[in-house]
Amino acid sequence: MRCGNFSRSRGDLQAPVIFAFLEASATNRIPRSFFGSGSSAAAYHRGMNTITLPTDDEMYRALLRRDSEYDGLFFVAVKSTGIFCRPTCPAKKPLRRNVSFFASAADALAAGYRACKRCRPLDAAGLAPDWLSELMERVDDDPLRRWTSREIRALGVDPVRANRWFKAHHGLTFLGYLRCRRLAGALAQLSVGDDPTAVAVDAGYESLSGFRDAFQKWFGTTPGRIDNGGPVLTVNRLPTPLGPMVAAADDQHLYLLEFADRRMLETQAKRLEARLKCRFVPGGNPLIEQTHREITEYFSGDRRRFDVPIRRMGTPFQETVWELLSNIPYGKTTSYERIAAAAQNPQAQRAVGRANGDNRLAIIIPCHRVVRSDGRLGGYGGGLRRKQWLLRHERATLQEAAQGR
Ligand SMILES: [Zn+2]
Repeated sequence: MRCGNFSRSRGDLQAPVIFAFLEASATNRIPRSFFGSGSSAAAYHRGMNTITLPTDDEMYRALLRRDSEYDGLFFVAVKSTGIFCRPTCPAKKPLRRNVSFFASAADALAAGYRACKRCRPLDAAGLAPDWLSELMERVDDDPLRRWTSREIRALGVDPVRANRWFKAHHGLTFLGYLRCRRLAGALAQLSVGDDPTAVAVDAGYESLSGFRDAFQKWFGTTPGRIDNGGPVLTVNRLPTPLGPMVAAADDQHLYLLEFADRRMLETQAKRLEARLKCRFVPGGNPLIEQTHREITEYFSGDRRRFDVPIRRMGTPFQETVWELLSNIPYGKTTSYERIAAAAQNPQAQRAVGRANGDNRLAIIIPCHRVVRSDGRLGGYGGGLRRKQWLLRHERATLQEAAQGR
């Protein structure tokens, strides 16, 4: 199973709804303090030296494709410039004879290379850079504000550069992102039964018809047709060393946690929408922040079980499998066969594989800990390289703990 890039499909009426939210979800609601100071990258990669890299051929191919599935899995240093990058760096790709590969940013630094200013390999993947943080804080404080280029420049941000960053990370210009945030706020107001005309004015539109057009474009429905039944789920991107993840939660439960480039993400979001009659809005809430904190601790080797309350909502068979998965200890693996046997249906190995793939809570329900009985990795929705990384990360963390480091 291979993960494609996070592609959009415009054919389905509901698809733009989900994509608008997922693409527009801010990376910035989470306080930067979660990442500590400048040594965060080194902390993330603690224990990673024990991890073997993919082959040079595979890494060079990933580099040429700018394959996001490899983000955080290796770093590439260019001998002729003395700079090191992520595999996804937008800069022109170096000749093969000029590159060396490293398992961590810390290793590349230790070998005397400097971090690239374009792809910023020392930042957690997907995190908004320092130069954008003040602007993003202000956007979060007042999402309805309309920004002019002059006001953006007054904060020391070049609007062209901001657009480039937003295009790369959210697939939207900065103003497009703001429009989406405003509409998302409007959606939340409408779903608690506010009057559309008042909401349109609040969202900064001069007429109800202009608001309706924009609303229809983003959400695939008109503002009058929002029902009040389903919950509103807040969606946000969480940066991790393996690339951004997407989390969706209301005030009580986390419903979704998945790598942002996973092809199944769209399907999962649609299933959730159909099941819960929910709406997605970008932003932050306490459970999203808790998830971010816990997932960050997991990646730094400081957390083995998760406390964030989850809602799984599977069929009876999925529930059984997911419960069994949740009981596989940290750092251990089991086989599809054994899960099928434990689910009292030894013939059901394929169904176990499917239930694994349908898991909406990556890492928290550790479907990466199921491998084939011949010892091979089997599939993983987030990509096999990530599965391998997670298993090695957990083993390395256990080893370090056993050695008392
Ligand atoms: Zn770079």
